[in-house]
Amino acid sequence: MLKKNDTLIVDITDMTSEGYGVCRHENYVIFVLGCATGDKAEIKMMKVLKNFGYGKLINLIQQSELRTENKCKAFPSCGGCVFRHIKYEEELNIKKNIVAHNFKAIGGFDLEPEEMVGSPLIERYRNKAEYPAVQVGENIQFGFYARGSHRVIPCDDCLLQPASFEPIVKCVKDYCDNNKIRAYNEETGIGTIRHLYIRCGIETGEIMVCLVSRKDKLRNEQELVSSLLKTNNKIQSIVLDVNTDNTNVILSENYRVLSGKEFIQEKLNGLTFNISPLSFFQVNKYTAELIYSKTCEYASPTKDDVILDLYCGTGTIGLSMAESAKEVVGVEIIQDAVDNAVINAKNNGISNAEFICGDAGVIANDLENKIKPSVVILDPPRAGLDENTVKQVVKMNPKKIVMVSCNSATAARDCKSFAESGYTIEHLSAFDMFPRTGHVETVIGLYRKDNLSSAKVTYPKLAKNDHH
Ligand code: SAH
Repeated sequence: MLKKNDTLIVDITDMTSEGYGVCRHENYVIFVLGCATGDKAEIKMMKVLKNFGYGKLINLIQQSELRTENKCKAFPSCGGCVFRHIKYEEELNIKKNIVAHNFKAIGGFDLEPEEMVGSPLIERYRNKAEYPAVQVGENIQFGFYARGSHRVIPCDDCLLQPASFEPIVKCVKDYCDNNKIRAYNEETGIGTIRHLYIRCGIETGEIMVCLVSRKDKLRNEQELVSSLLKTNNKIQSIVLDVNTDNTNVILSENYRVLSGKEFIQEKLNGLTFNISPLSFFQVNKYTAELIYSKTCEYASPTKDDVILDLYCGTGTIGLSMAESAKEVVGVEIIQDAVDNAVINAKNNGISNAEFICGDAGVIANDLENKIKPSVVILDPPRAGLDENTVKQVVKMNPKKIVMVSCNSATAARDCKSFAESGYTIEHLSAFDMFPRTGHVETVIGLYRKDNLSSAKVTYPKLAKNDHH
């Protein structure tokens, strides 16, 4: 039996979606961070559990052909990236397999994604960074959480972020140190600054800088504003968010504009969008555009179609289809995002779209006798749909449901419910919105089995794997 600190030589035979290499020692499964299928490695046992264990890479004896050079110093201790050590094509293979696996194991569907579309950019593709703060002696540092913990690994320049963010991070650090403003410590409750949050429009160049603080006023705020504006003249919005809660949620609803506008603008597929600090916006503009085009293709709206866009954020998906449809109704729980969506419709000259603030399932229920959507778009957070939302959507009996999901496990579960209510998966494709991380996005086109006008018709329950 293996013990902690034992060293052994292993062959890595597989990789997990969390970026661990998998090997076996006399049938005992060991996960090794930063290893790739095909590696021969010397490892040291760090954790020995009953059915499996974790090892640490000590020495690479033979390198896998799937490996590539890792250029990030924070990898693999930083919890952000998991696939920096392997070639991008292999990362896409792994992601495609994850989607197929979840649709089979959780949904009971025997199908593979039609396509696994890579991101046009695999470095510096993000438009948003959220750096937790940590105090190191007299200096504040910003970085990212280590894998599975809240320990901050300082990092001014993350390779997933635009290069323009690094001087901004340095500027905020200098301002804090000069004014003796310290990082907040979750454990002791001492200190002020919780996070630095930077967002930009890739196409417009506009930048928002938001400092998340436990106090509602900072020393010499004007010094922060003037040094930021000197650092980058594309900074259009500087915001102080005051978060006094004992929570993991980064932003509170309580924020104040220190300089400029309350929003920045970004363009997607030719439309312009206002984005406020609290509004969700897709972090990879390049892949988001491809996903929206695919969503439109699966929905294939005509001038007769009423589109219900649930979880609509700033209105992006519905607005990108509005011109081809009769009417768009968007539903979103964050009021600031709804306010953005209303203005976004107006700024893009779209007059057949309307937006409602509230929970997707609750509003869908309210709308039951008011609109008859022929197409429902669903783009929920990672947790997927709740039971009520599934029920309300089925009750509305749309001929098409197009789901966009950042979690193929919950998407597979929700598609199973739709399949049991008379819908068939016509299309499934996967997109890489988050290169180098373990996440993958899916777009699913579900079509009602026929054009019956009543959802009350019952269909036989699908047998497992009886679905193509
Ligand atoms: N479709 C948008 C946003 C997708 S992200 C886009 O592509 O940009 C998911 C959105 O769902 C977020 O804006 C989040 O605020 C919203 N949301 C979360 N829970 C919700 C709920 N119960 N009802 C409605 N919207 C919700």
